[in-house]
This record gives sequence, structure tokens and C-alpha cells, in this order.
Amino acid sequence: MENGRQHKHVVMLPFMAQGHMIPFLALARQIEQRTGYAITIATTPINAVYLRSSISSSTTTTTTTIRVVELPFCSADHGLPPNTENTEALPNHHIMTLFRASQTLEPSFHNLVSTITEKYGEPPLCIIADVFFGWSVDVAMRFGSFHVGFTTCGGYGTAAYISLWLNLPHRHTDSDDFTVPGFPETCRFLRSQLNPTLRSADGTDPWSTVFRRELQLSLRSNGFLCNTVEEMETFGLEALRAVTGIPVWPIGPLQPPAFLNLPCTTDSNLSSSRSVKKHGIAPENCIKWLDYHPPGSVLYISFGSQNTINPTQMMELAMGVEASGKAFIWVVRPPVGFDINGEFKAEWLPEGFEERVTESRRGLVVRTWAPQLEILSHKSTGAFLSHCGWNSSLESLSQGVPIIGWPLVAEQAYNSKMMEEEMGVCVELARGPDSRVLSEEVERVIELVMGEGEKGKEMKMKASEAAKKIRAAVREGDQLGSSVKALDDFLQTALSKRHENADEAMTRRAIAAGQ
Ligand code: UDP
Repeated sequence: MENGRQHKHVVMLPFMAQGHMIPFLALARQIEQRTGYAITIATTPINAVYLRSSISSSTTTTTTTIRVVELPFCSADHGLPPNTENTEALPNHHIMTLFRASQTLEPSFHNLVSTITEKYGEPPLCIIADVFFGWSVDVAMRFGSFHVGFTTCGGYGTAAYISLWLNLPHRHTDSDDFTVPGFPETCRFLRSQLNPTLRSADGTDPWSTVFRRELQLSLRSNGFLCNTVEEMETFGLEALRAVTGIPVWPIGPLQPPAFLNLPCTTDSNLSSSRSVKKHGIAPENCIKWLDYHPPGSVLYISFGSQNTINPTQMMELAMGVEASGKAFIWVVRPPVGFDINGEFKAEWLPEGFEERVTESRRGLVVRTWAPQLEILSHKSTGAFLSHCGWNSSLESLSQGVPIIGWPLVAEQAYNSKMMEEEMGVCVELARGPDSRVLSEEVERVIELVMGEGEKGKEMKMKASEAAKKIRAAVREGDQLGSSVKALDDFLQTALSKRHENADEAMTRRAIAAGQ
């Protein structure tokens, strides 16, 4: 039996999406560095291959002991296309199938925790599971492990997402705007801010059934870890604490140390230090292109790891960007209705668009995946036209880059609302996958945010303030930042509850056995 620091074991269970895997891996690295505990990440076979290569691709001077264990999963058994285990590879109508299929991981996860418990002579110190895996709370309880739900979203976005799914407040009013339990009366939400599946949810449809069950179960955790910063999201975290009623530790941003200018042991480049996704352009070529442009002059456009816009929106966006006269990097993938992993066709953009902007060095059109961290941390990047996925939002704000919001699905519209209303760092250009977007509006908003006007200057200033708060939160040394303290506090709490949780588990087992 192993002993010493390695004896303590943390088991992690990320949801199968890029936007979840990336922060989970970053969290695993931080816990390993701070504690030396053994860490096991459990996931499906294809995601395990991806995670293992992401871990080994970052050449660190210290060796890692993070272990990735496969939970058996065959996508075809669940009616999913063969070899698809990640939202990224899935057409939208299959996403719910993946969610449902992910619930079947419970028995093999239980076996894994059981094996670890036998091997180490005690249950894992802690199970850190995605909030979408509420079923894992029961597994933790059976073994007496501390359990936290990890939300890879922000405080405000998570609070709104959970409260909306659990309470469906829009079903109790005909009004277009309404309040959401956990948020003050003055904070009104709009029907148009709800993801289409939530807007039509009645509590019995497949989306409601899965989300309401998993989120409800997740609230039985010992607490939540949240990828955000206390000082930046005071209001959102207050709402999250009110909605969940359990401790919340804001431990973000979970980004590579070098991206935050922290001392680090990684010597590979930023993007490949966290993911082995194949880039549509080599990071060094992207940096070279950016070097050519003046500070703050480039607009970066991306809709995250799994979303895309429709053909009409793509045309209007292209025309608006071209008319704005601003330099840009645009990560393009086939529009809605076409194979997202298929070839990109020139006809989806205005005639001669790519040739014109490439020749004049006005634009860089990148296929599928870009080195986002290199782009956002480059001084030439002045604004980010984003779908407001939380990782992208936080990455932009870490670098003081203001946002032009075009939220599409999930909790993205709440992030956009929060960044616009609470922080003043975002202007929403469009909302939702079906929004009508005109090129003139694209041009107007780009000018508003990147031009010389007061609004643009104010947004830039507020984004820089956010960046300062974010960097202060991850400070090491004499004056520990709030996120570092929160991570230590969470680990300390897990340690101090160890015996209490084990005793409770023993009592539960005894009751179950009829003693
Ligand atoms: N990302 C990237 N290059 C791309 C697209 C996305 O590196 O071309 C990364 C991005 O930096 C972020 C993650 O993928 O860390 C996307 O997460 P987010 O929460 O923003 O959106 P999601 O993909 O989950 O909708």
C-alpha cells in the first residue's frame, strides 16, 4: 500500500466537451502542483486518448503523475455516430443523446472508485465531478469521499443556468421578461436569452429530464468549485451561493500560468501546453501575422469549440467585417446544416473574400481551430467577437480584451448579459442561433467597440480592470490571491471532512445491510 502524500487520491470526472476537458486538466495540474496528491481523471476511451496526449504533449520540467483511466463506452450502443464521445464531433441533434448516454457511466465509475479504495486502503479524498454528473454524488457518498461539483462556467452563468432549469420561471408568466430565483428582483431575464431547448422546456421533455435530474443531484455535493474570480464576479457568486445553498469556491481562472504571466515550468507554446487539437494555422505563423499589425487593431472572431452560425449569418458577418475596415482573424467552420467536420467551401463567404483579405493582409481566415491563447495575449488583438462561452470570455478578460457578444446556446447569453450589464466589458451584437444579423449592424458594433469613441475606450478600461483582478487572484507568495486561497481552503475542507464522510458512509452501509 502506498503512503505519504501520494496516499491521498483525487478522482476527477469531466464532461466530454473541449470547454470542460481543458479547465479540468488545468485544475488537475494545479492540485498536483500544490499538494502532490495522486490524481486520476476518468473518462471515455477516445477522450482518454486525447487527454493523455494533451498531458504528455506539454513538456514540463517536472514529471506528472496524473493518470487517465478509461470508463468503457461505445457510442454506437447509444445511437450515436460511431466513435463520437465528445460534443465537438457531434451535430446538435445528437447532443442530448450524448448527455443521456453519459449517465450510463455510473457503474464503471463506481467500480473505479472501488478499485482505488481497495488499492490505497481508503476511499479517494475527493471526487471532483462535472455538475452534469450529479449521479456521481451517490458514488462518493457510498465510499465516504468528499464530493464537489465543478462548474466550468462562471458564477452568474451557472446560477442562472441552474435556477432556470430547476424553476422554469418563464413558464409561470406571459411576460417577455421575468425574475429568476436567486437573483434580485431588479435583475430581469428575457425569453430571448434562453437557449431554445430551455425556452420550450416544460419539465417533462428529454432536456428537462436529464438536466433537472443531474443538476438537482449535483446540489447534494459538499460544495461547488467555480472557474471564476471572487473580486470579478461578486454579484454572480452571491447568486450562485443563493441558488445552490452549498459552499462555492471560486478558483479561476484555470488557464496556463504562462498566459497569466506567472512563473511556469512549461516550455512548449501556450496552446499546445493544454490541448493537442490540430491547429488550422501554426501558432508561430499566427503570431507573425499579428506582429505585422499595430497594437489593439485586430478583431478576433471565434464561436468556440463546437458552435457555428448559419449560412446567411456567415455572409452578413463577412460583409460587415470587410466593410468595417478592421484587421481580423476569423476561425471558420462549415455553417449550420453542413457537416461540421467537413471541408470548408469558399461559396459560404462573399465572392473573392478570402483572397482579398489574405492578399491585403487585412484578414486571416483560419480553419476549424486557432491558437486562441496566443491570439488573445498578443498586443495587436483589440477585441474578441465571441459566442461568450465562459472559457473564451475569461481568456479574453485575463488579457484585458473587450468582447463583442454573439451568444448562441447553453449559458452563453447569461455570460453576455453579465459582462454587458455588470462589468461593462461587452456589447451584444446578436443573440441566439437564429438571430437576424445585418452587415451594417456588424460594422456599427465593431466601430463602437474598436473605434476611437468613448464607449470603446471605457470598455477597454473596464476589461483592463478585470484583467488586474484576475491576475491578483492567482498571485502566489506573501500576498496569496483569492483563487489560490480558495483552492487551498477547498482542499483543507476536504481533508477535515474525511473522517466525518467515512463515518457517514459506514452508517449508510450498515443501514442498507439492515443492521
Ligand atoms: N479554443 C481554442 N481554439 C479555437 C476554439 C476554441 O483554443 O479555435 C478553446 C478556447 O480557448 C477555450 C475552449 O476552446 O478554452 C472553448 O471553450 P468555451 O467555454 O469558450 O466554449 P465552448 O467551446 O465550450 O462552447
